[in-house]
Amino acid sequence: MNLKILDSNDKNSNNKDLSLKNNTIMKDLAIFGGVPTFTQSLCVNRPHIGIKQNYYKRLDAMFDSRIFTNDGPYVKELEKKIAHFLNVKHCILTCNGTMALQLICKALDLKGEVILPSFTFIATAHALEWQGLTPVFCDINTNTHNIDPESCLELINEKTAAILGVHLWGNGCCVNELETIAREHDIKLFFDAAHAFGCSYQNRPIGGFGDAEAFSFHATKAFSTFEGGAVTTNNDDLANRIKNFRNFGFIDYDCVDGLGINAKMPEVCAAMGLTNLEQFEETVQQNKKTHDHYLKYLHEIKGLSVMNYTEESNYQYVVVEVDKELLGVSRDELLMALHAENILVRKYFYPGCHNMEPYISRAKSNQNNLSSTEHLAQKLLVFPSGFGISKTVIKEIVNTIEIISNLSTEVKTHFS
Ligand SMILES: *Cc1c(COP(=O)(O)O)cnc(C)c1O
Repeated sequence: MNLKILDSNDKNSNNKDLSLKNNTIMKDLAIFGGVPTFTQSLCVNRPHIGIKQNYYKRLDAMFDSRIFTNDGPYVKELEKKIAHFLNVKHCILTCNGTMALQLICKALDLKGEVILPSFTFIATAHALEWQGLTPVFCDINTNTHNIDPESCLELINEKTAAILGVHLWGNGCCVNELETIAREHDIKLFFDAAHAFGCSYQNRPIGGFGDAEAFSFHATKAFSTFEGGAVTTNNDDLANRIKNFRNFGFIDYDCVDGLGINAKMPEVCAAMGLTNLEQFEETVQQNKKTHDHYLKYLHEIKGLSVMNYTEESNYQYVVVEVDKELLGVSRDELLMALHAENILVRKYFYPGCHNMEPYISRAKSNQNNLSSTEHLAQKLLVFPSGFGISKTVIKEIVNTIEIISNLSTEVKTHFS
């Protein structure tokens, strides 16, 4: 039963790793004992790597120079290029995005509470907590998945030091409304732009909004330096403070001006960034193609809808809302069935930061109305994307989902 024919020859892909199982075999769903659709796991955000040869050349020059870190030439070059690309005055590279967020908190001298959405990666909240700040979770808009300014406004009190907006999936988060709120309440505003490299908000590049923005250049992000991140800002004084804090607080030889840390990016990472930046447009084009294929083919399945991008985007995330009534299986049943096929869809950002430690144990975290967050956290799946996810691969993913949906009764029984 449940047979289907697989086409093994993925002619558009030069990528053996993701090839389908052997020629025209008849298969069953993997949860019923069949051979998984893919021999290797399909992951969310498989990295693009630019032109390898260019990276090796940079490494060669680095080895010859013996300059491996401490504000080296690649770090300086990449900072300049990113600032230019994002049309912002300062870019300060860091060892990762979590540290970029913490440096902003430190340099703004924040104390007390910071309002942020719960529907984000846990690092957004953890960065605040590590700085001795109290994260206060606000709700989101279920259409944009981004911070709801009304919900944010309700949580402002005399202890509020700042708002931390997140440009989820690379979509700008009500920047204008948040700027107004921050100005009227005389509090700081900064952004977690980890998803938003190369994205725009109302035709302006993300990177120059609020007091500062934090990027992540982790391997799974649209633009990567293996591990890495950056603070971008138009504020000269803030940029200066962040640069000092990044390097233990040194402002000169033998002179430390405050409680700094080591948040520097090494040259190997900056060299990767320079190599990836050369190819960034190409990467975005490939991401867009992948996203378009998902839009087109997943559209054929009742019960799944792909979030579309309306502004300039890096198209890194394929975000899908699952309607279990229409699809016949729940989001979690679909996930388990797909994982058995080596299609590793992810439940980003389930269950929401407020439902994880250390926040869940605090009675107060759960008093806020986060109904939209709770609702959305039950419905979303992020699909495999990035390098090597060709049209053929996507069609095969969609075929597999069709089979799962057609066999919804058997699938539900299997997991019950
Ligand atoms: C990846 C990510 C971070 C953390 O960045 P790192 O570079 O991994 O420290 C923070 N916030 C969001 C929304 C992210 O997706």
